[in-house]
Amino acid sequence: MRSSLLSITVGIAIACAPPAPRQITPADYPRTRPELTRYQESSRYADVRKFLDSLRTIGAPLTFGFIGKTTEGRDIPYVIASRPQVQTPTQAKALGRPIVYVQGNIHAGEVEGKDALLALLRDLTFSPKPDALDSVVLIAVPIYNADGNERLASQSINRTEQNGPELVGVRANAQNLDLNRDYVKAEAPETRASLAMFNTWDPDVFVDLHTTDGSFHGYALTYSPSLNPAAVFGGIYARDSLLPVLRERMRTRDGFEVFDYGNFISDERGLIADSSVREGWATYDSRPRFGTNYYGVRGRIGILSEAYSHDSLARRIASTYAFVKEILSLAAEKGQAIRSLSARADSQPLAWGRAPDSVQMVAVRSQLIANPPSMDVIKEDLIKTGDSSRTQPGVPRGERRSGVFKTTRMPVYDRFTSTLDRLPPAAYVIAPQDTAVVTLLRLHGVRVERSDSSWTARGETFTIDSIITAPRPFQGHHEVRLKGTWQRGLQSLPPRSFIVSTAQPRGALIVYLLEPESDDGFTTWNLFDADLKKGGRFPVTRIFDLSRRGRGPVRRSSASASPLPQD
Ligand SMILES: [Zn+2]
Repeated sequence: MRSSLLSITVGIAIACAPPAPRQITPADYPRTRPELTRYQESSRYADVRKFLDSLRTIGAPLTFGFIGKTTEGRDIPYVIASRPQVQTPTQAKALGRPIVYVQGNIHAGEVEGKDALLALLRDLTFSPKPDALDSVVLIAVPIYNADGNERLASQSINRTEQNGPELVGVRANAQNLDLNRDYVKAEAPETRASLAMFNTWDPDVFVDLHTTDGSFHGYALTYSPSLNPAAVFGGIYARDSLLPVLRERMRTRDGFEVFDYGNFISDERGLIADSSVREGWATYDSRPRFGTNYYGVRGRIGILSEAYSHDSLARRIASTYAFVKEILSLAAEKGQAIRSLSARADSQPLAWGRAPDSVQMVAVRSQLIANPPSMDVIKEDLIKTGDSSRTQPGVPRGERRSGVFKTTRMPVYDRFTSTLDRLPPAAYVIAPQDTAVVTLLRLHGVRVERSDSSWTARGETFTIDSIITAPRPFQGHHEVRLKGTWQRGLQSLPPRSFIVSTAQPRGALIVYLLEPESDDGFTTWNLFDADLKKGGRFPVTRIFDLSRRGRGPVRRSSASASPLPQD
């Protein structure tokens, strides 16, 4: 259809003999708002749309779309770049290349990811030489938190620790939710759109672009792999095989010193329980509420990028641009390894279903390692000015940067260790009334079936000994933690129960979301609150052997034998 339309158009064009179309030259390429303002301003939502429209108008071989709408109804644009051009997930998969999804602006005051991504998209697309787009499929989502981007205020209000630009957006979305705490509960339309993109395109790599908030260190950018111990595929591979190479390339090819994300313990004790530790460098959190941690638990690679907030906007754009470019280039080189990692992550839980002996534990709670290695970390000391003047945006009043960088050897807390592992059952069975839970599971790309009849199976139920509710609200929730014990026995399961087999891609994610003691599951975010009672049973049952479902007397009473219909 497309080609025949094209030939008709071409035929008419020849018949009318118009002048040949003017060659596109670099002078025609769109410029980002920072490029047009000497890096004094970041792009507004309209600037992003205009930039992308300009790419389309000059015939850039890109695929344009919207991942969904924001809370306030703004379309969230995405762009797909690859040579050859692809328009559908099937076409992208058929190329046999890694799919890399890069997201800017989740915290809308952290502006440079958005502008760096637009510039990189343009430059890679029009590059006269072969580049990463010949070997990867790039999905760029430059302005994810579009509503937050438009709530402009002075950097001194919206981003107190950032060196410009003068006007920036806010961290939260229009529901006042932090989108980078929403990846499990998915309450924001932006998150739901993001999960739908993950399900549809199944990217091998997810990169989330941010700006730091904290310490005065000596790095243009800090990065993190998925920190969750359940991220046994992408987390470890990124940490041990990709990020050390990226660090070296950023130094030698791009001139930027980069390091694992963290803050000095002297600035933020964070998760360091040992009060005798006075000096050290520590990362942030392992829970999947954070996008790149979540993506690791999905069995893929997640990379967090944090440009240094005390660098100028121009330098932050440059370091983020270089980092994303190096990720794409490395993903292109390691295409086969990355794709086979994704395949292994998906096939492992399928093997659980075939051979129960192969089942591997899934970490559902974790803590920062207690005995970290010592490494060199670069620090910049601030100097007291003796008055209360402001020397630079983002620097505390009465202090100025010294420009003197010192390298100190100190413990580096860059990873987590599991404190609670759970063996995946063959399936979780969810009570018929918990439809909201099922809707959310499906949003996470989980296959859920429904039984027509009552049935019995060997399994375990969890008796709740205590319900610990966080006294302070967080993101509109009082987080819940359960303690209790599992009891084995023959389980009677009511008709219309929901059945979630773990023998499917994202098996580890299913365990993480449904286990009652998980540190960031559906229980945490109050999805089961109505069913929780001290001394009562947790409303999700673990079933050991799904193959017995539908056999014997159960089968006779069942309206439909296996496979069960989707619901
Ligand atoms: Zn951020």
